[in-house]
Amino acid sequence: MEETGEVTALRRWVAEERGRGKRIGFVPTMGYLHEGHLALVDAARERADAVAMSIFVNPLQFAPTDDLSRYPRDLPRDRALAAGRGVDCLFVPDASAMYPAGSETRVVPGAAADRWEGEFRPGHFSGVLTVVAKLFHLVQPDVACFGRKDIQQVTLVRAMVRDLDWPLEIVVVPTIRESDGLALSSRNVYLSAEDRAQALGLSRALRDADRRWRGGERSAERLERAVRDTLRMYPGLTADYIAVCEPTAMAPVTDAVAGTIVALAARVGSTRLIDNIVLGEEA
Ligand code: AMP
Repeated sequence: MEETGEVTALRRWVAEERGRGKRIGFVPTMGYLHEGHLALVDAARERADAVAMSIFVNPLQFAPTDDLSRYPRDLPRDRALAAGRGVDCLFVPDASAMYPAGSETRVVPGAAADRWEGEFRPGHFSGVLTVVAKLFHLVQPDVACFGRKDIQQVTLVRAMVRDLDWPLEIVVVPTIRESDGLALSSRNVYLSAEDRAQALGLSRALRDADRRWRGGERSAERLERAVRDTLRMYPGLTADYIAVCEPTAMAPVTDAVAGTIVALAARVGSTRLIDNIVLGEEA
């Protein structure tokens, strides 16, 4: 596996692989890799001949009050996991390589960025789309893989790719979970045993909603209330939002159909977790 923090070296790798006629797959991450990230690598390998992964904790997508400085990092471990799963090129830039002094241009997302996550993290999706746009230009992937775990993020990335006519395919990989349902997240490392027990409320609430929907409940309002009721059984959790929305622009719906998304964010202690479910698709 190649590894570099330099933009010029990454460009060289991309040019060589393209010169050999290879299809390039790309997996952008913030590192502290887990099985969810590695499932994206598997998906990229299935669709491409050479796979690049980036590890970059992007300061632009963190608010001053967010967890940028304590975001978990372990490059030696990430390197071993990425290489073991078949990543061909690991791009690990530092902030000055991505944003040299004077770098001020930002991507402005559409209105879908203002609701749910965007309401609680103003500017977050502009930061995400800016770094994703830069990385897409550098890597020139034929296919890029994202997790459904961050469903609003991938919805906005898809919209950017469509609106700016990027010639690449966006693949969405289902959320990888612990056996008890907790969605894998780099932030899970922050959770004490007590926090973790509370954090299970997110996936439980989503599963309850899915069960009710399969049982015939179609009212978005009642599904939302059911999610809220389940969350109330976990006193350590404070919900930021519960969304019952459609998948294109994440606009709220009144009737839940197959494919409707139920998404939520909740805080446990000082950790903020998100999760979602696509009704009718997964339990
Ligand atoms: P992050 O490092 O948290 O920015 O995530 C990098 C990519 O991995 C994003 O596309 C996430 O949606 C995806 N991802 C994170 N957690 C999971 C998970 N549990 N299952 C599948 N994909 C995930």
